[in-house]
Amino acid sequence: MPLILMYHAVDRVSHDPNMLCVSPERFAAQMSWLRRHKLRGVAVGTLVTAMRAGRARGLVGITFDDGYASVLEHAAPVLLRHGFTATVFVISDKAGGNNDWDDGTLWPLLTWSQVGELAAAGMEIGSHSATHMRLAGADHGRLAAEVGGSRDSLHKQTEAEVRGFAYPFGSMDAAARQAVRDAGYEYACAVEAPRLTDLGMLALPRIYVGERDTSSRMTAKRLLYRGYVAMQGRRRDSWQ
Ligand SMILES: [Zn+2]
Repeated sequence: MPLILMYHAVDRVSHDPNMLCVSPERFAAQMSWLRRHKLRGVAVGTLVTAMRAGRARGLVGITFDDGYASVLEHAAPVLLRHGFTATVFVISDKAGGNNDWDDGTLWPLLTWSQVGELAAAGMEIGSHSATHMRLAGADHGRLAAEVGGSRDSLHKQTEAEVRGFAYPFGSMDAAARQAVRDAGYEYACAVEAPRLTDLGMLALPRIYVGERDTSSRMTAKRLLYRGYVAMQGRRRDSWQ
């Protein structure tokens, strides 16, 4: 199971109580760390295709939740310099708005035209729901609107296949995973390590990466992740 990194915003900010922002300098250092370890950053769709073909060795998934405008400005140039791609999970009803669901500072979200720029640069666009609500416990109609409805909107806007979903707040249950499957997604990203019984293509584990993650901390996180994967390795049957 390859490593998948989870980012949100990439910018210089003074107030970040939820630790969701990485400075452009730190982000560049983290991408250089991947390069030094002979790892290639790719979109999760690319990673999933490679996993199915048994060719995922040396690949690391890179993801950005929420679709902050700063990803286009500060992260995309660094990714392109390294020949990397990434998946940006966009909230379909909030394009051009801001992260008003958070109690922290408000940051601008990508407009549809900026989403198009990222896609044109080779980045994968995935869904992060329609309104960024918690999906665990949501009823059937609400799940269909958040999961399936957002996929339809993204498809209309980008004219591309929308293969991936990321659960807002990492909140999910069996009904949410079923809604993701019913909507036609190939994979979905969880936050951090899901419970063993939930693990699979509809609950891919990710590692949070933040401003404090220096090269030595990146190395430590990679080792911890290897331990987690080794522990889950006995349950290969869940990777369907
Ligand atoms: Zn989010």
